[in-house]
Amino acid sequence: MTEVRSLCVLCGSREGSDPAFRETATRLGRLMAQRNVRLIYGGGSIGLMGVIADAVLAAGGEAVGVIPEFLIRYEVGHRRLTELVTTDSMHDRKRQMFDMADGFVVLPGGLGTLDETFEIITWKQIRLHSAPIVVLDVGGYWAPLRALVDAVVDAEFAHPTVRDLFSIVSRPEDVFAALAAAPEPSEEVFSSHL
Ligand code: AMP
Repeated sequence: MTEVRSLCVLCGSREGSDPAFRETATRLGRLMAQRNVRLIYGGGSIGLMGVIADAVLAAGGEAVGVIPEFLIRYEVGHRRLTELVTTDSMHDRKRQMFDMADGFVVLPGGLGTLDETFEIITWKQIRLHSAPIVVLDVGGYWAPLRALVDAVVDAEFAHPTVRDLFSIVSRPEDVFAALAAAPEPSEEVFSSHL
């Protein structure tokens, strides 16, 4: 178990319909700064991405954005970050965010967030990394994610231990304990389908 110093937060480039999404992102950002945990994220200034970056910076923390050149225009690259890394492609962005982080948190988000979340979970499934992944389930938003994984296991397309690849909490205050308590990926999760 290693202490997480650089936390990659995956989240929406929109704020979503429920004000609790914004409030939770703000609280998480503040807690990260208080604990000297560096934010690694997609570099945008809009949506929950912008909310968490602003919260970290406002509380005196460090925020590093990683954004492909072509998205700077659309996602309105954040101008006041500790560092803004630009990449040539979406793939390179995900790779660089992954390389810089030693833990991952998933806030509510859209299809891009889902893509990033499943990539980081599946990389853990094939043991490319063992970093903790915590899904922050604000107001039950991510309940369908757990249900989908359960359905995949029930249909025997994945070993039951895939459920241990990530944990789910409902309050930002619980994120850090969940990161610290995350189990190593089991041998079975990788070998069971080979
Ligand atoms: P979203 O959850 O769709 O608002 O997107 C959140 C983040 O994921 C943003 O930084 C997007 O640039 C990124 N993203 C959007 N679509 C994709 C995609 N197809 N593959 C990977 N990342 C994406």
